[in-house]
Amino acid sequence: MSKGLLVVISAPSGGGKGTILQELFRTGDSLRYSVSATTRAPRPGEIDGEHYYFVSREAFEEMLENGKMLEHTEYLGNYYGTPREPVEHWTAQGYDVVLEIEVDGGGQIKKLMPECVSIFILPPSMQVLSQRLHGRGTEDEATVQRRLEAAKGEIPHAKDYDYIVINDRLEDAVAEIRAILKAEKLRYSRNTDCIERVLNDAQAI
Ligand code: 5GP
Repeated sequence: MSKGLLVVISAPSGGGKGTILQELFRTGDSLRYSVSATTRAPRPGEIDGEHYYFVSREAFEEMLENGKMLEHTEYLGNYYGTPREPVEHWTAQGYDVVLEIEVDGGGQIKKLMPECVSIFILPPSMQVLSQRLHGRGTEDEATVQRRLEAAKGEIPHAKDYDYIVINDRLEDAVAEIRAILKAEKLRYSRNTDCIERVLNDAQAI
């Protein structure tokens, strides 16, 4: 069985990536979502173990010390990190694992695992991003402003990603991500074992 893809998806928060991922997962049975650990407080409706593992700073630091994080960062005053074990487990089982992380973590993963597939989801404009953040209604104005400022710093990092998907129409963005994953699976470098198998067959004829 070939290893699954490690897929890094980044986008400024509020860019609608949650909706895109929901739709992607609704129909993608070979996909697994990497649930991150964070020290930030849950938002209304967020479930521990599903959206994030909500942990204390002490617990997070202990995980770091024990080498349990593949990458981590501090973002707007809170820790966020990717637990190593589920990613290794699911990719070894042939599942494509999606890491929905910010740009600093994305850079760490690209360095550590250059074979990963990285996708940056770009909002169509800053105005649309601002409207979406306000429309979400889960944060106060100061937090929305901090997220908008953070977005301005994040968008230039799009240049370090393999692919850019503009989140204008949901269906298009999802179809584009599916197309990327499909093409990535067909890369020569991911199919050397098939070639060997066919060549071995050829010798048997
Ligand atoms: P939020 O607080 O809006 O859920 O997430 C804030 C930012 O942290 C988002 O850009 C999100 O992609 C990022 N993030 C979530 N989990 C992780 C993680 O495990 N590692 C890193 N580096 N960033 C993460």
